[in-house]
Amino acid sequence: MVIDCKAISQAKRDAIKRKAAELDITPTLAVILAVDDPASRVYVRNKRRACEEVGFGFEMYSDINAVGELVTQQDVHGVLVQLPLPSDIDTNKVIAQIPPEKDVDALTATNLGRLVLGAYDFAPCTPSGIMTILDNVCGSVSGANCVVIGRSNIVGKPMSIMLTQKNATVTLCHSHTEDLAGITSRADILISAVGKAGFVTANMVKQDTIVIDVGINRNREGKLVGDVCFDDVVRKADAITPVPGGVGIMTVTSLLENTLKAAELAVGKR
Ligand code: NAD
Repeated sequence: MVIDCKAISQAKRDAIKRKAAELDITPTLAVILAVDDPASRVYVRNKRRACEEVGFGFEMYSDINAVGELVTQQDVHGVLVQLPLPSDIDTNKVIAQIPPEKDVDALTATNLGRLVLGAYDFAPCTPSGIMTILDNVCGSVSGANCVVIGRSNIVGKPMSIMLTQKNATVTLCHSHTEDLAGITSRADILISAVGKAGFVTANMVKQDTIVIDVGINRNREGKLVGDVCFDDVVRKADAITPVPGGVGIMTVTSLLENTLKAAELAVGKR
């Protein structure tokens, strides 16, 4: 089965739109796009369109110094810095300026710490979107053998924490992992966040596994693909997310959820 992430996302967005309409304020997201990179521009455009779809306000800034002002503006509920930033800017310093209650990407030390403690309002958007997919596809992950490839702060690490909190048994793999195929071929749920086209081949996947492909890559023909050799793995997997139209769309929907939560927090509704 190819997982219909568009349908899962649409149901969520419909609910977000309804809840937003019940608020006396317009939930508003501000995005800082400080680098002129084509991929980042596309991601920000998708975020703007998603905000428009559910009736949120959307503001865009190109000056990284805007963060300092945005965090004090009462009519801006969520502040997101589009990553990666240019190499001469200290990403951690910029993120640290965002107060936890406006940190809709959940990347501040406070929000990541709260995630580890299991008491949080905001979880990073991509792992959060993947948990929604897994809720829809398998209900519970309790006891499942989950393998995550990639240990970034925005995907792999928080993913491993969220799965652990739901009682999965998690193995977090990375570029120094030995016998990767031996580990992945025992996974009930395999999540790949590496960023290399064709990285996960059919021999790395057990029959009837759930495969979540986070990667966004261009293959040799310039086509948008994930990390997984989709045409081969789809025959073996019980369920698999497509690229495009998979995890990416859920990431944006999680961002909308977090922005709604931020607006609700601002008016004392949470
Ligand atoms: P990253 O690019 O920061 O790091 C890649 C990770 O892959 C590292 O942790 C590294 O250890 C691991 N890795 C590299 N080579 C490996 C190997 N041979 N064996 C095992 N592990 C290896 O990670 P990221 O920022 O999470 O991005 C990963 C991919 O996910 C990229 O393609 C990115 O574009 C994509 N992404 C997609 C979404 C989405 O919404 N769909 C969101 C974030 C990132």
